[in-house]
Amino acid sequence: MSLSSAQLHVHIAAQDRPGILAEALTFIVQAGCNVVDIKQFVFNGLLNLSILLDGCDQSRIQALRDALSIYAENMDFKATVYPWETEVRPDAPYSHRSVVTLLCDSMPSAGFLEITQIFAELDINILRIEQLDSGDVHALEFLIGTREVHSSEEVLNALVKFKEKYGVDIAVQEETFFRRNKRLIVLDADMTFLQCEVIDELGKLAGVGKEMTEITHKAMGGEIDFESALRKRVKLLKGLPEESLHQLSNSLPLTPGAESLVNILKHLGYKIALVSGGFQFFIDKICDNYGLDYGVANQLMVENGRVSGELEGQVIDAEAKERTLVSLAEKEGFSLRQVVAVGDGANDIKMLARAGLGIAFNAKPIVQRQAQASINQSDLRLILYFIGINGKDLNELNELVGASDVQSWP
Ligand SMILES: [Mg+2]
Repeated sequence: MSLSSAQLHVHIAAQDRPGILAEALTFIVQAGCNVVDIKQFVFNGLLNLSILLDGCDQSRIQALRDALSIYAENMDFKATVYPWETEVRPDAPYSHRSVVTLLCDSMPSAGFLEITQIFAELDINILRIEQLDSGDVHALEFLIGTREVHSSEEVLNALVKFKEKYGVDIAVQEETFFRRNKRLIVLDADMTFLQCEVIDELGKLAGVGKEMTEITHKAMGGEIDFESALRKRVKLLKGLPEESLHQLSNSLPLTPGAESLVNILKHLGYKIALVSGGFQFFIDKICDNYGLDYGVANQLMVENGRVSGELEGQVIDAEAKERTLVSLAEKEGFSLRQVVAVGDGANDIKMLARAGLGIAFNAKPIVQRQAQASINQSDLRLILYFIGINGKDLNELNELVGASDVQSWP
């Protein structure tokens, strides 16, 4: 191998200990080379160190190689000097980048093989793999790159079968500085923040539970128009005493991890909003209880202490949810790319699409097909992995906010 090029790439693989980089740099300084770039990581006690050099004096390159070779032999590690023939950096062609985050209980080797084969078939290069967590949740982050522009949708479509086969939750996000710098989260309430459809619970109290649930199911699955379905269901509630609303509001079941998620995101400085196709009465109560910043929902009209069967004001349908998300981001001065949206129903699709990160949470198939991320497990804190938080961070954050359900996580 000839060492006639102007640039050199020095690679060192060694059992890690303090001082290795300093020792290697001593030889590099003696050879009169400039450090153009440097990267190192330690994995399982093994150091991987790469240094890109230029300006090396031709006459001293062989001496550098010899010095590193003797040093490596004495220290029982591996040092390789590669000539770098071109100015083009090896990862430069893969300038279109995304991060694919996988969440699962465990990932068998065959699963690793399959996903890497899928990427290879699509001419997608894997630039970095990071294991965010390997406890009860196995969370993996792949930084991928392509020569041509790719969309999250293309990558997700290619992973559909893999996702089903291995029971993996996946997010595909463009790799920009906004990915880990989100500022606002907009959550749907029913079956997202809450583990129930409030209107169905009201239906039970009004003695029309079965009829109510059937309409809700169709509306959330996108089979029937949201507004007409809502007005129909509100009519079924006519005559329900206001007292029933108070009783129900005290017993709404939160989704596991909801309270911890809110506390962690508040700790990180997020603004938190509930935007619901349900009723303001309940959303106000939840916002008060958990210190949320915004709550937007439909106004259920109450007359003479009873539900009138009508709505007041604007209906919060899919378009209104989307508009609310946009206006909240504008009001706070955040880019839409800094917004996370989470929801399960057909009326959440537009809101999820507008957010920088739209997550279908235990969602109807129609929603999952259109969202860039989905979670089909029960704990809302899993969202945190999608914004780049790792298991170690999560443990610290759980401690900081005094999460009560850490033991059962997730
Ligand atoms: Mg919902």
